[in-house]
Amino acid sequence: MTASRPQPAVDLLNQELRFQKGVGPRRAGEFEQAGVHTLDDLLHRFPMRFEDRSQVQRSTDLKPGESAAVWGDVVSAGLRRTRRRGFSVFEMLVRDDAGLFRVVWMNQPFLQDVFKPGQRVSLYGKVEYRSPGGLRLSNPQYEVVSSSGDPDEPDARDEPGQAEGGRHTGRIVPVYERIGSLATGHLRKLILATLDRLPPHLDDPLPETLRTRLGLPGRRESLWGAHFPAPDTALTTLNRFRTPAQLRLIFEELFLFQLGLAMRRRARDAERKPRVMQVDDRVRRSALSVLPFRLTAGQKAALRTIVEDLCRPRPMNRLLQGDVGCGKTIVALLAGLVAMENGLQVALMVPTELLAEQHYLSIAPMLSTSRFRVVLLTGGSPAKQRREAELALERGDAHLVIGTQALVQQSLRFRELGLVIIDEQHRFGVLQRATLRDKGALPDVLVMTATPIPRTLALTTYGDLDVSVIRDLPPGRRPIKTTVVGEARRQAVYTFLRGELTAGRQAYVVYPLVEDSEKMDLKAATAMAETLATVFAGHTVGLLHGRMKSDERDGVMRRFAAGHVHLLVATTVIEVGVDVPNATVMVVEHAERFGLAQLHQLRGRVGRGGDQSHCYLLYQGRLTDTAKARLAALARTTDGFEIAEQDLQLRGPGEMLGTRQSGLPTLRAANLIRDHDVMETARDEAEAVLGERGIPEPVLAHLDEAWTRRFGLAGVG
Ligand code: ADP
Ligand code: MG
Repeated sequence: MTASRPQPAVDLLNQELRFQKGVGPRRAGEFEQAGVHTLDDLLHRFPMRFEDRSQVQRSTDLKPGESAAVWGDVVSAGLRRTRRRGFSVFEMLVRDDAGLFRVVWMNQPFLQDVFKPGQRVSLYGKVEYRSPGGLRLSNPQYEVVSSSGDPDEPDARDEPGQAEGGRHTGRIVPVYERIGSLATGHLRKLILATLDRLPPHLDDPLPETLRTRLGLPGRRESLWGAHFPAPDTALTTLNRFRTPAQLRLIFEELFLFQLGLAMRRRARDAERKPRVMQVDDRVRRSALSVLPFRLTAGQKAALRTIVEDLCRPRPMNRLLQGDVGCGKTIVALLAGLVAMENGLQVALMVPTELLAEQHYLSIAPMLSTSRFRVVLLTGGSPAKQRREAELALERGDAHLVIGTQALVQQSLRFRELGLVIIDEQHRFGVLQRATLRDKGALPDVLVMTATPIPRTLALTTYGDLDVSVIRDLPPGRRPIKTTVVGEARRQAVYTFLRGELTAGRQAYVVYPLVEDSEKMDLKAATAMAETLATVFAGHTVGLLHGRMKSDERDGVMRRFAAGHVHLLVATTVIEVGVDVPNATVMVVEHAERFGLAQLHQLRGRVGRGGDQSHCYLLYQGRLTDTAKARLAALARTTDGFEIAEQDLQLRGPGEMLGTRQSGLPTLRAANLIRDHDVMETARDEAEAVLGERGIPEPVLAHLDEAWTRRFGLAGVG
């Protein structure tokens, strides 16, 4: 018997699995590996699907090759040795209303201790035909429904398919993903035993009023229902994870997550920065004087919101989203100017040296007539230059620093850092953002990304940020024409390229660079550059990759930007930020190796001027289905938001953002793709609960536990 005296729920659910009956050290290790530590974790490992085994068949109706559920009484059972050493067959004869049938299990000698003649059993498994012997059920899942056949035992009265029938067979049955050596049947048993021990009342992190309003069942009922649903539950609803019980547990998890985020936002709202910025005519004139063009409506709106944030007493925490090429840099620079005019320093952090250099090259001239000094600080800068930059920042002689991760290094100090801007945020971890922020006293923070984040994920990873979106592009841009081409049509691509080069335009040819085969790939890129120099004799071909020294790379980039290099063969170092409006063709070699977001970024290197631009996605060999889907999505649309949604579908959130880096919570019940609608509700409800009258004490305890122990995120406090 597994049932024991009820215990307080918290104690029971927090019990570690390794102390449970039937879980030895080895299995405990396997559970740990799967992130299942406590009984509570175990109960939140939902079945991956449900099967309806309530349709019990008569033994005479069995057909080879099908799976079937059968009930009957054990007539005889025993272990049969075979000639093969170490191989055993456990064989059983079972009688149902229609007659006798045979059941066999390979290599499960312990079944000797499970089955005895006279028991009533429920079985589910594959029907095979073997000669000699005929039809048999092979390695079925089983359950002993009554041990003696004694009709006074409660279970024995049950007919197959009824609520209290076998939990492994004879009804809708949960199927679990294996954990280590534990197959679905074991897990089912362990979960059932745990559920049986649940006390009648479990305290609930969801406020009663909320539960009633949303029609969500209680916690205990939901835990049962998510594993062993009532027999009349619709199978399709179960498998879509949309029964009230399942929804409740999903909602609970997302609610606690959103509540934590809401509390963080509250805490932020209470922060006060030491100096609030001001905007007067002088500041406005200064900003206008650097402006090389008219801002688009989207840029203006974003800038207005940002400047409003700067002028507020609480620090800004804003995400600026905008597709590749929409012009985020100038918005950031103008915000930077406001900060500098207010006597504060600005740090702009970008993910690659190349991008830092690019930004430096374009921003320095714009500021040359102002009184502000810009410095560049990257890991690749010469030591002397770095020291000078550091000193200038510490003294306050430099007002704006553009750099890479080198900016978060410990030794770097600012005189008064007032604004932190992080470009291409998706390339950084949350930690780096926090570290740079801590170099100032509650500075304003602006993070920018061109990888549009599907709303679900935005609500998750950037849930504590305010969001601005630039949806328009600078005037005169035409959508890039994208073509997916196989190797056989390479010559046609070259012909087109030649035409563009002859017309005075420029082009990129990008090679993938995989870490494992970096050397070979570099060689391929280098060889490609040499080949193309011959193919396009008369035009200048350049080569750019991450292994070049930074001044060498700088030189190539400068010559490309100035139009002296016409065709640039590059690795993905050019993925972000590079901006040469005269470049109109992007050829991606081995496009099948790239991810969707990355291809979108690469394509964004062209289409930056008024001329029609083209992107060719060259692939080798046969495409896998997902590669096909990726390339097709890219050819179909240039809308980064649509592409991001596609990417999420194809790759899943973890891979899309890189789970460890991104601040994505570890979720047990919810799935970010499947449950995005629940996430929206959870966010609204969390805000409402927090707004009403603060969070009740018991909810707080759950919340803290969830954030620190389960989501793998820093606590909310
Ligand atoms: P991203 O948002 O991808 O960082 P950038 O800031 O690099 O985009 O801008 C892309 C290009 O568009 C740059 O050449 C920039 O000078 C130009 N640009 C930005 N805003 C405008 C505008 N309002 N009018 C014309 N060109 C613009
Ligand atoms: Mg940019």
